[in-house]
Amino acid sequence: MMLAEQRQQIVDYGMKMIQSGLTTGSGGNLSMLCRETGLVAIGPSGIDYADVSSNHIVIVDLDGQRVEGCLKPSSELSFHLALYKARPDIAAVVHTHSVYATTMACLHWEIPAVHYLVAFSGQKVPLADYATFGSPELAENVVTGIADYHAVLLANHGLVAVGADLKQAFNVAEEIELVARIYYQAKSVGEPVLVNHEEMEAVLKKFTTYGQQST
Ligand code: 13P
Ligand code: ZN
Repeated sequence: MMLAEQRQQIVDYGMKMIQSGLTTGSGGNLSMLCRETGLVAIGPSGIDYADVSSNHIVIVDLDGQRVEGCLKPSSELSFHLALYKARPDIAAVVHTHSVYATTMACLHWEIPAVHYLVAFSGQKVPLADYATFGSPELAENVVTGIADYHAVLLANHGLVAVGADLKQAFNVAEEIELVARIYYQAKSVGEPVLVNHEEMEAVLKKFTTYGQQST
């Protein structure tokens, strides 16, 4: 089987997505790009994460031509591919319907720097205009909306997070859901005080050396 490692990661992170409450059923989707081969591994459409195994993962090229696998790929294949074409810095995409991020997306709000962890996306989490799920318009809106951020809210739909690998993209989705929840709660009782632009620049710089650096 091609891209065995990527297939397994997509299965494992799909389960993590359910276990951490970031989505339900078959909602959302995950993919990984192997930049050496130009091939993308993406989950199948409409199958519960708990029922997905590595042979269900579909391999396509960057034009969406199926290379291996007999199931229909995720209905959001076009925005996954559009993101890989637009963003040479990424090799993984995670899409969720996590409740608090989606709440913001249904209000057509962006998420500002209410907490420094918004740096997982950038200075904020922007909002992409609404388009029908799986449509070429949605792919365009996602690419325009995300610009050079690492996350984008999809109006009346959910969240997309990107990263250099699946671990990173998943972390972005998880942390942005936390920030969305904090924003919702703060807004429920008052007007949150935002972290200013200059301080967020300092946080973004510090994020580049956060944690254990490989030597
Ligand atoms: P798929 O099951 O086709 O990946 O669709 C889920 C989804 O979230 C559509 O936006
Ligand atoms: Zn969706």
